[in-house]
Amino acid sequence: MASGGYQIGIVGCGVAGQAAAVFLAECGHDVTVFERFAEPRPLGAGLLLQPTGLAVLRALRLKEQALSRGGKVLGLEAKTAAGRTVLDLSYSMLHPAAHGLGIRRSVLFDLLHRRLKESPTRLVTGTEIHDVAREHGKAVVVGRDGQRHGPFDLVVVADGAHSMLRQRRMPQAVQRLYDWGCLWTTVPDDAGIGATSLLRQRVRGTREMMGFLPMGDGLLTMYWSLPAAALAPEVPLDLDVMRREGRALWPEAASVISAAVETNDFARATYRNVALPRWNDGPILFIGDAAHGTSPQLGQGANLGLVDGWTLADVLGECPDIPSAIARFAQRRGSTVRFYRQASHLLTPLFQSNVDSFGWLRDAFMGIACRLPITRTIAATTLAGVRTGWLSAAKLDAEGRYRLDP
Ligand SMILES: Cc1cc2nc3c(=O)[nH]c(=O)nc-3n(C[C@H](O)[C@H](O)[C@H](O)COP(=O)(O)OP(=O)(O)OC[C@H]3O[C@@H](n4cnc5c(N)ncnc54)[C@H](O)[C@@H]3O)c2cc1C
Repeated sequence: MASGGYQIGIVGCGVAGQAAAVFLAECGHDVTVFERFAEPRPLGAGLLLQPTGLAVLRALRLKEQALSRGGKVLGLEAKTAAGRTVLDLSYSMLHPAAHGLGIRRSVLFDLLHRRLKESPTRLVTGTEIHDVAREHGKAVVVGRDGQRHGPFDLVVVADGAHSMLRQRRMPQAVQRLYDWGCLWTTVPDDAGIGATSLLRQRVRGTREMMGFLPMGDGLLTMYWSLPAAALAPEVPLDLDVMRREGRALWPEAASVISAAVETNDFARATYRNVALPRWNDGPILFIGDAAHGTSPQLGQGANLGLVDGWTLADVLGECPDIPSAIARFAQRRGSTVRFYRQASHLLTPLFQSNVDSFGWLRDAFMGIACRLPITRTIAATTLAGVRTGWLSAAKLDAEGRYRLDP
């Protein structure tokens, strides 16, 4: 390693980029983060942090603040409109003290951003990066205005699921947009939906899905599935349909749905199934959704991005040079990320698609799978983010926490 650490550029001030920046800067590397927005900000409502993501927040010394500003989530429940159980999982299947955390994206963002600003990271905002070029074994980032920044020993691309840099540097990557996405928003929980501390979901076939994630402070994230075509920015939202269908699907949530429709503060989300042929192009490394975007069906994307950030700093500390650190990173992250990408991809059409028979299969078998000992453990470890592959999972420690050390 160069004395004083490596020169590292990071594109994207999101979940993965910020976590990576703090860990790397605090290990002594000279880190510059480039963000397109003049004021970096999160988009969307709330998300579920798993024991894996919470372990990263603990390493960032942010876990207690996150716990005090989010809502503990004890498990996941999904039912059909007729009341048949499709999913019934709890973290306590793995350890009595294990749990997830529902958290507003704005809260998670503020925590990470404050931590970034306390670290020696340099933040360059209002700078959309248009390309990353390899030059003499190093990498240079190029802004939309043509300005070049660098050279860097390593450029970390963390520009999210719809990454433009992935399209430029890895055109052969799989980056298929799903046919379905969702609307999501934050609503006050005046119907006690979050009282069970569960992420709750209702489905009818594969074309209707609504969910509520408790986030503490009496707030819920609400999401409602829609075809991607209806989510295009220029298409007006038909919230009356959502109100009518949502209330029929989940009568107990009628007041929450109406409040959400009246406030009309929905964000539109589309998602991609991203698979890269490899993690890097020389000294240009992809992490977070840019490397392994999935549908949010398993609630893992932010957690995977946080662990990517921690792992990158760890391998750079262990290895004598950047190529060997990237190889170790790929080895440490490869099978976990592959599992979650493949599992999300297999599950997505069972909940969001135009194929009705997938809904019948889901309703017939998934509830049973949550009750049989072997499949129930596989499902619970999948939910908790601790799977390391189709046949393997990490164990939680004696206190029910995930350990980052391999
Ligand atoms: C509806 C929905 C629900 C979800 N629920 C969950 C959940 O419950 N749990 C979970 O773990 N995950 C969830 N996710 C996934 C999670 O949001 C993502 O995995 C996570 O945000 C990815 O983080 P990231 O840092 O890779 O990308 P992002 O958070 O998207 O950050 C990318 C950053 O790069 C910046 N950027 C982009 N392009 C450029 C450029 N060219 N130049 C400079 N800057 C650029 C962006 O402005 C942004 O700041 C959900 C996603 C959706 C859509």
